Amino acid sequence: MKSVENLVEGFKRFRGQHFESHDNLYRQLVNQGQTPRILVVACCDSRVDPALVFDCDPGDLFVIRNVANLVPPLEDHHGHHGTTAAIEYGVNLLGVRHIIVLGHAHCGGINALVRAGGVCAQGSYIDDWMCLAESARTEVMAELPHAPLAEKVHACEQRSILVSLGNLVTFPWIRERVENGSLALHGWYFDIERGQLLRYDAAARDFVAL
Ligand SMILES: [Zn+2]
Repeated sequence: MKSVENLVEGFKRFRGQHFESHDNLYRQLVNQGQTPRILVVACCDSRVDPALVFDCDPGDLFVIRNVANLVPPLEDHHGHHGTTAAIEYGVNLLGVRHIIVLGHAHCGGINALVRAGGVCAQGSYIDDWMCLAESARTEVMAELPHAPLAEKVHACEQRSILVSLGNLVTFPWIRERVENGSLALHGWYFDIERGQLLRYDAAARDFVAL
C-alpha cells in the first residue's frame, strides 16, 4: 500500500514522463484544450481506475467516478447533482462520442444493496444513492430467488449497468445524440477476479467477453 510520501515520489516520475520529455503531452493538452472522445462512468473502487485498466494517456478519457458507477435519471428537483453535471459537461461541452458505464466484480456498493435487501438506513448517503439501483436488485431477486448471495450480487452488478444505460437516455440531449448517431452508449463489466472485460450485447441480452 502506498503512503502519502510515495505519492510525491510518484508525481516526480509522472512529471519526468509528461513534462520533461521531448514530446510534452501536457503542453499540447494545455494549448489545444482537452478533446476526449470517450466518457467513462466508473466506480470509486480503488481497483477499477479506467485510465489504468484501459492503459490510456492523459487527455484520452473523461472519467466520472461514484459509488457503484451509477447514473441517476433526469430529475426536475433542484440539488447538487455531481454525476449529472459531469455527464452534461462531457456530452454538451466536450462533445464525447461514446459513454461507457463500467461496472465491476466485487462491488462494495452493490453488495451492500443486495445484503440490505433494499432497506435504506435513515440518514445514510450511501443507502440513498444505492436506491438508484433498486430496480436492478428487485429484478435479480425475482429471477434468482434461491441463488447464493455471490451470484445475486454478480447479477445485480451487471443489471445495474443496464439501469444506468436506461437512465442516460432520459436526458433529451443524450437521447437526441444517440438517435442521430453522434453518441454511442456502452455497458462494460470488468471482472477483477478473472481479469476479463465484458460488454453488454443487446442482441444476446447478455454480457459477453471482449
Ligand atoms: Zn464498485
